[in-house]
Amino acid sequence: MPELPEVEVLARHLQPLLPGKTIRGVQVCRAKVIQPDDAEAFCRALMGATFTGLIRRGKYFLFQLRRPKQREPFTLLGHLGMTGRMYLARKSTPLPKHAAVVLDLGREQFIYEDTRYFGRLTLDLTSVASLGPEPLSDDFQAETFGQALKRSQQAIKIKLLDQSLVAGVGNIYASEALFRARIAPQKAASRLTRKQVQDLWTAIRAVLAEAIDCGSTIPLNLAGGGAGGLFYFGLAAGAEDFYEERLRVYDRAGEPCLQCKRPIRRIVQAARSTFFCPYCQRK
Ligand SMILES: [Zn+2]
Repeated sequence: MPELPEVEVLARHLQPLLPGKTIRGVQVCRAKVIQPDDAEAFCRALMGATFTGLIRRGKYFLFQLRRPKQREPFTLLGHLGMTGRMYLARKSTPLPKHAAVVLDLGREQFIYEDTRYFGRLTLDLTSVASLGPEPLSDDFQAETFGQALKRSQQAIKIKLLDQSLVAGVGNIYASEALFRARIAPQKAASRLTRKQVQDLWTAIRAVLAEAIDCGSTIPLNLAGGGAGGLFYFGLAAGAEDFYEERLRVYDRAGEPCLQCKRPIRRIVQAARSTFFCPYCQRK
């Protein structure tokens, strides 16, 4: 499932490709992914609009567009869900089986495909309104982060998934950051010491920045291919292991901890897997 780094890597790939491209046709193959918009209004809003830019916010893409003769840009929100891919392809490329929305851009087409249809491409921006600070920006302050944790009785791992606390951290990087900061995932958020808050703040930024750096070096095969891998949306064949080596605890249950060699454990918290080292993350 894509988290902030995967979305950032894809955004960086798409950023130079989109500006100036005008939408000449809109095909909604799966109405579910444009909810709560209806297909007719969605098509009407996008027809004739030109892409002006793309920014990432949390795990969301914010595509900036402008209609002809209108000054004010508007935003199209994209989210990859669990299995979404968004990419440009030549017009002659046959549509994939799970194409959800296709935008005709002239010689090229923007394809959003999704085998499970949990992603979104919509004009509704409600979901970004409640997002917390961007973890890699100056808006993310250790002080405010600590104050928010103080007010929560939830286990720290579960609290980290709260997108209003910090945007874009998901299941993978929550486990990774807690390992880096040597904090037990079951510990109540409110009980973290000042030092632990600082360590966790630093660790969150470090794991995300490293993953972006690493992902940026992987050649993306955007139109499909490899079934697995975290860069599932476009991992070149053979590059998968390269990325997975970066993960120190996630999906490594039973394998030796890279610090102490004791086995990594998997537990379930709020119906999601958590991976940690019970020895290195005792406190
Ligand atoms: Zn360990």
